[in-house]
Amino acid sequence: MNKLIVANWKMNPVSLLEAVALAKESDKAGVVIAPPFVFLQAVKEVLVHAALAAQDVFFENAPVGGAYTGEVSANMLKLVGAKYVIVGHSERRAYILETDEMVGRKVEAVVTSDLTPILCVGEGSITRKEGMEQAKQFVANQLFINLQFFKRSAKSACVIAYEPLWAIGTGENDSPLNAAEMSRHIKQIIREQFNILNSLVLYGGSVNGKNIEAFAHESDIDGFLIGGASLHPEEFKKIIEIVSNIS
Ligand code: PEP
Repeated sequence: MNKLIVANWKMNPVSLLEAVALAKESDKAGVVIAPPFVFLQAVKEVLVHAALAAQDVFFENAPVGGAYTGEVSANMLKLVGAKYVIVGHSERRAYILETDEMVGRKVEAVVTSDLTPILCVGEGSITRKEGMEQAKQFVANQLFINLQFFKRSAKSACVIAYEPLWAIGTGENDSPLNAAEMSRHIKQIIREQFNILNSLVLYGGSVNGKNIEAFAHESDIDGFLIGGASLHPEEFKKIIEIVSNIS
């Protein structure tokens, strides 16, 4: 499979047993699984093919620990076996009031620990209704702030997940053509403005077993960030199979 499929379990499932069972069902090459923090270790232990991601990280890069109650450092995530960290998911921006500045520092902490950030960006419905050009400008502004501390080195890789807010968990996906257009826009910015050559751009927002085929045909979309559908093993396997057959 030439595309990356990231399963964002969000605050699911509710027990360790279910998490381990779901991980075993989803354990395919080219897949990245992002369970809640408390299941990271157990999920890592059963994965053979898939990679592990965390859903968040603290913005202070504190390799030897620190007085930050409730927080988890990038270094801890690395020790538990994570390769990727989701940063700036719109649910955290909305419910935890994460600012672009905080997201930027989280990206820095992740890269400093030699992990790969999966940076989530995307416009809201009001902006999109104003037009695609406005949406592109909004995403460009997010990238400029969120990547401001990205340290370039030979090892620095970056994954950007384009997730229009109105498409997340709503059943209302963006069109594959628009998602591909936004993907090209993001690639151009990170290549020309940030000189990041090693990057992938994913689409996220109500991807499911029915609409995946049309998205998978878009060569400018490098993969998918999948929430709801990743919690249903049969549907998730179908998504992986369709993407594998096409890419
Ligand atoms: C997400 O959690 O990032 C997401 C895209 O969710 P869903 O697939 O449920 O829209």
